[in-house]
Amino acid sequence: MSSSQDIFALGLGLEEPWTLLDQHLDTSKQPHELHLRVGTRRGAQFPCPTCGRSCKAHDFKEMTWRHLNFFQHHCYLTAPVPRVSCPDHGVKRIQVPWAREGSSFTLLFEQAALALVREMPVAAAARQMAVTDKRLWRVVLFYVHRAVARMDLSAVRAVAFDETAAKRGHRYITVFIDLDRKDEPVLFATPGKGKDCVRQFRRFLEAHGGDGAAIAEVVCDMSAAFQNAVDETFENASQTVDWFHVVQLFTDAVESVRRSEAKQTKMPKGARWATVKGGDGPLKDRDRDALAELERLGLATGEAYKIKEKLRWVRKAATPQAARWRLTRFLNHAEEMAAGDEALAPVRKAIATVRQQIDRIIQRWYSTHSNARLEGLNSIFQAARHRARGYSSPATFIAMIYLLAAPIGDISKSI
Ligand SMILES: [Zn+2]
Repeated sequence: MSSSQDIFALGLGLEEPWTLLDQHLDTSKQPHELHLRVGTRRGAQFPCPTCGRSCKAHDFKEMTWRHLNFFQHHCYLTAPVPRVSCPDHGVKRIQVPWAREGSSFTLLFEQAALALVREMPVAAAARQMAVTDKRLWRVVLFYVHRAVARMDLSAVRAVAFDETAAKRGHRYITVFIDLDRKDEPVLFATPGKGKDCVRQFRRFLEAHGGDGAAIAEVVCDMSAAFQNAVDETFENASQTVDWFHVVQLFTDAVESVRRSEAKQTKMPKGARWATVKGGDGPLKDRDRDALAELERLGLATGEAYKIKEKLRWVRKAATPQAARWRLTRFLNHAEEMAAGDEALAPVRKAIATVRQQIDRIIQRWYSTHSNARLEGLNSIFQAARHRARGYSSPATFIAMIYLLAAPIGDISKSI
């Protein structure tokens, strides 16, 4: 074998009885194609895929795999792959060492593709490797599913979950995270939202070495359906409503007040952003102007916003007792502010919801888990949506969430 053939053989991980027979650059194609031909000597024996016993070849089928580019040239590998005739297992197609079963890429190509997919959207990686995104997704889904199947959830004690849409207005998925993990917290993601997802999570947990009875805390939102499901499914768990969801509830209420009011009244410019943003992060001058204008005009949106902003005072309570006292004061005061104005009905609804959830909200102050985890989920969702862009379905979105934020390690390792 010439030394250039050695180089190719090394790159492919070729081993006995396989050798590189020849290479040929097809310059009639654009970009040029490098074709590597791999084969075996006559009469070589191959291991039976079931028992490993050395067997004679029964027949051969020529197969081709896409391999890593050689400089700018696309590279293909072709080999006659035998079926062996095993006395115990009959006639079986063997496994080649450079590709996994059913794939039309070499392992090296797949590894390079997965390395790219960790860094950029799948569509961009597909362009860079000059394959269709559909084919690349098939590779990604295979490796992610295999890695997820191996996850060990035996240490999980406290979880939170939230739902989101793969695309705006599309079907929902529900994601469970481990509250004890700072990095890569995602444990489980499944299409749908509601009770059934909670039960599915318990099954998944127990299929991965976990124990539903060992779950001591579940953080969720204020939906009664979810909460009932958690009660039924995790018999030993206390339930916590995350503060994030309280703020979200009032933010949504302000927004729905603003939307109906905007149909009748001309709203100050920038009112929407100013009221959504509130005191989070620095208010710009134009936000302050918008808020002052809401106040001057005596608009219901301004009142709703003021109520929402008082939540900060509740959040700052240092102890559970203080939190309960502040939350009660807040609700009473908010109720007075919102009374009698039809436009503030959404805010009254939010107040009523929080009243029913006081105990679970106060539980937050007893919990040792960080409040930031669920908020962190949103940036994971955004990143996953971006990576799956152009090919977004619940399955591809979920795969990206796992790839970006589940403790699955290097998914290309160990076939
Ligand atoms: Zn056999």
